[in-house]
Amino acid sequence: MTDTILVLLETTPARTLTRSAAGLLAAARELGTAVALVVGDGEVATLADEAMGAGAERVLVARGDATALTVPVVDALDAAFDRVSPAAVLVPNSVDGRDAAARFAARRHLPLAVDAVGVERDDQGVLARHSVYGGGYDVTSASTFGPLVVTVRLGAIDARADRVADVPVETLDVAASDAPAAIIERVEPVVATSARPELRGASAVVSGGRGLGSAEGFALVEQLADALGAAVGASRAAVDAGYVAAAAQVGQTGVSVSPRLYVALGISGAIQHRAGMQTAQTIVAVNKDPEAPIFAIADLGIVGDVFTVVPQAIAALEAKRS
Ligand SMILES: Cc1cc2nc3c(=O)[nH]c(=O)nc-3n(C[C@H](O)[C@H](O)[C@H](O)COP(=O)(O)OP(=O)(O)OC[C@H]3O[C@@H](n4cnc5c(N)ncnc54)[C@H](O)[C@@H]3O)c2cc1C
Repeated sequence: MTDTILVLLETTPARTLTRSAAGLLAAARELGTAVALVVGDGEVATLADEAMGAGAERVLVARGDATALTVPVVDALDAAFDRVSPAAVLVPNSVDGRDAAARFAARRHLPLAVDAVGVERDDQGVLARHSVYGGGYDVTSASTFGPLVVTVRLGAIDARADRVADVPVETLDVAASDAPAAIIERVEPVVATSARPELRGASAVVSGGRGLGSAEGFALVEQLADALGAAVGASRAAVDAGYVAAAAQVGQTGVSVSPRLYVALGISGAIQHRAGMQTAQTIVAVNKDPEAPIFAIADLGIVGDVFTVVPQAIAALEAKRS
């Protein structure tokens, strides 16, 4: 059985690798030989170097038309798959990654495992681990035919790999498939108004729920997030009440996160919320109701009023820093 693991790395609009690269390459290194695929429309040498820095043992670079959505990436995956005959293909479980992985698996008639929180290997091949039904069950999927294409949840893999010496970089000749693709006509950069980390893939998340009572009250969530250098999340009830933008919603119909630290403030812990955060490594909950279901999954539960507990936590963090 081949030990090559093909890893699709994504790029940001600023032409750097996204943060998912390091975890994916580290996971691939644990399974076999990590071969990175980077697709770019311009200078790809810096992307290749970034991939090496994140642990790639071999780098394939492909030029693709950046004005077409997904299809150039699928064409590059197609060519890379033929070049290296991998035992599995790892793709970030981002919006674009899911699109590319699904199209690629369909095109090559390969099995697809989505939203994995880990990967492993047995003597028959690569396996994907998933956390399902609101984090209530851990399941493992294996393919009965062909190498598995796996989308890996952003932030789910903590491992990191070292740079290796003498990494070969190969240019792929990619034959354009002419499959229908949406064309990007215009890109308008939105200037980030916050220095906070992005929710997807963040290593720490502070989320607030209906218990914050108002948009003004929700500022407390943002203050604790800033004190911890964390991203801001929310329950659906907080979003529906207009305390915070819908992009912050964590859960079944929101974003799934797997941070090292998840702090839930004034969140009851409904199954639909837990579905998006239960794989966090450490869960801290503050709720004034000792019976709140969030305490069943919390590593540290504080029964109390958020408006009493959280300012003390922020003050303690600031005192530690000064
Ligand atoms: C199909 C479907 C999909 C859904 N998808 C999602 C989803 O993606 N994400 C999501 O979050 N929900 C989702 N929901 C909604 C979910 O069922 C819950 O209604 C929601 O998560 C509740 O949000 P909450 O915990 O903020 O509010 P509540 O359930 O009202 O809980 C508020 C909590 O705050 C506590 N509290 C109140 N005041 C204070 C205080 N001063 N200090 C400390 N604690 C206080 C209360 O004790 C309570 O536990 C979905 C529901 C459905 C049906």
